[in-house]
Amino acid sequence: MDYQHYFGKRISDLKAEGRYRIFADLERQAGRFPFALNHRDGETHEVVVWCSNDYLGMGQHPDVIAGAEEALRRCGAGAGGTRNISGTNHYHVLLEQELASWNAKESALLFTSGYVANQTALSTLGATIPGCVIFSDELNHNSMIEGIRHSRAPKHIFRHNDPESLDEALSAYPRETPKLVVFESVYSMDGDIAPLSALCDVAEAHNAMTFLDEVHAVGMYGREGSGVAERDGVRDRISIVQGTLAKAIGVVGGYIAASDACVDYVRSFGPGFIFSSSLPPAVAAAALASIRFLRAHPEMRERHQERAATLKRRLGEVGIPVLPSVSHIVPVMVGNAALCKKASDLLLTRHGIYVQPINYPTVPVGSERLRITPTPLHDDSMMDHLVDALVSVWDELDLHKDHGKVKAAE
Ligand SMILES: *Cc1c(COP(=O)(O)O)cnc(C)c1O
Repeated sequence: MDYQHYFGKRISDLKAEGRYRIFADLERQAGRFPFALNHRDGETHEVVVWCSNDYLGMGQHPDVIAGAEEALRRCGAGAGGTRNISGTNHYHVLLEQELASWNAKESALLFTSGYVANQTALSTLGATIPGCVIFSDELNHNSMIEGIRHSRAPKHIFRHNDPESLDEALSAYPRETPKLVVFESVYSMDGDIAPLSALCDVAEAHNAMTFLDEVHAVGMYGREGSGVAERDGVRDRISIVQGTLAKAIGVVGGYIAASDACVDYVRSFGPGFIFSSSLPPAVAAAALASIRFLRAHPEMRERHQERAATLKRRLGEVGIPVLPSVSHIVPVMVGNAALCKKASDLLLTRHGIYVQPINYPTVPVGSERLRITPTPLHDDSMMDHLVDALVSVWDELDLHKDHGKVKAAE
């Protein structure tokens, strides 16, 4: 086989389909969020970032930077190994205690990413609980799908956010069969939120465990910001909650929080935990500082929701098609991969606005979009600029004519 030729051919296929991904080369500037420098064609341009998953700008918060700096000076750069072999740092212990208390669980366990947390926890539980059957929402994130697949446990996909569909799937098994129901709270592409209480009702009726990915809710929902389960008062009905330290917490890493027994089980049997070196102490310290700040500052969450609601309203007023999201995520529908990329390019090069195009396979073909994530640090004048720029791009690419089609496709 001519390997290089094969790689090249598959890449040119992607390009022909308009799905080839090009990364924007950004230089974030501590203290200036949401501004960043964009390195492009040998020059640097200042841009406003409107698509960051650093949803609250915490990656540049002074407390977070100070926490990282202090730990970096005290402990150095790396952790020195896996948690079992010399890699457990005091900051890991403190962060796990904070995560457990924040989530109102007995214990928590850190992973190197949210992806690894999902993949390891689900594959370990599904593979090692005898006879376990997994029930998974059809729009679950790839990290959960990979964990479930790797577990080789029998699985059923239920309709998105549909407790009746879940009930039907669970009803095919006797009560004694071990069952794990897997879903998210905030779905990050459409910005919809799962009916957690109704899903828990169904899971409990069948004596199933629940596994909830709160990645896009952590830091942003609930009085202390631990997620939608806190907001909805159902934390004691979620067996295992999973989250990331990389999005609204602003750093990197992932976790699960659950009962002592369950966390100890994943710690003892999960290969993705056992065999991978732990997070650097400075990362754990930064995440700890971020969580402590967010728990104490609900006004961040209020301002965040206000910014998102204001942007949705303003885009609606000028005829830009926004999916009716109930969260902080503002999906602007384009419905065509090439046009979506063009709109994003125009925003960047002509208006100094960075919004990444979201194309297949992240979203279904025909629902390509610009996924906008306003933060508490996007002020009114930045929003004026964004709305004007979108209107200008919509005019230039003649996107208004597809408005009806996109709406109908929803
Ligand atoms: C981003 C994401 C993850 C993975 O988290 P990382 O910390 O980025 O690895 C897991 N679940 C969902 C729903 C995500 O969007």
